[in-house]
Amino acid sequence: MRLVLDNFTKSFDGTNVIENMNLTVEDGEMLALLGPSGCGKSTTLFSICGIHRVNGGRILFGDKDVSDLPSQKRNVGVVFQNYALYPHMTVFENIAFPLEVQKRDKAEIEKSVHEIAELIHIEELLKRRPSQLSGGQQQRVALARALVRRPNVLLLDEPLANLDAKLRLEMRSEIRRIQLETGITAILVTHDQVEAMSMCDRVAIMNKGEILQIDRPTEMYRAPENRFVAGFLGNPP
Ligand code: ADP
Ligand code: MG
Repeated sequence: MRLVLDNFTKSFDGTNVIENMNLTVEDGEMLALLGPSGCGKSTTLFSICGIHRVNGGRILFGDKDVSDLPSQKRNVGVVFQNYALYPHMTVFENIAFPLEVQKRDKAEIEKSVHEIAELIHIEELLKRRPSQLSGGQQQRVALARALVRRPNVLLLDEPLANLDAKLRLEMRSEIRRIQLETGITAILVTHDQVEAMSMCDRVAIMNKGEILQIDRPTEMYRAPENRFVAGFLGNPP
């Protein structure tokens, strides 16, 4: 589903952190929000999923304005840096949880969890608890839980930050594979330019609450629009 931020403004204590941001993520596209720490990436994601209320402008899913909807009604899948799985539940129960909350029937829950576990290659982990999983496996479970309701959009906030270098490489291609297979519209937040460039269809470079440039990775390297973008990207890998 197409996602639009239309003059989106977010402030804390009267100070604008994001001011009049315009951004369109096309249906089925994976877009990176790339920028230094503190530039407003997480604030943008929290506003899209409804944890924060916008102070100005609109957020559209397709043609629908969701700005005033509570987060449960937006059907957004989120994965954060610290996977935040429920430690007392099994992997199956963790993934099933968003469906339990919606009081779906047992057979349907069973079917949905197994389908998503198969897609994400974690079928053999369903009976374990989070403490019995590696970092990469925990992150796969978090991804399965985020996708089990077939959300309108998938939001990933620095999902690879806690992984070692080898796992990070593996999960880069895994997350992209899963995004392509599900055709879900996705935003990946990161401060790692190589990650953004290698995983996404387009990259939006942010600084101080503003998007400076949005382009395909190759275009961005070929023609950075200003010094900040050029300096932030460095040389192509
Ligand atoms: P990023 O994810 O790009 O590192 P954030 O979106 O977390 O940046 O933060 C952007 C700015 O908003 C920072 O200056 C941060 O201190 C401020 N900020 C974020 N959340 C809050 C909050 N809940 N209350 C007050 N200020 C906040
Ligand atoms: Mg952040």
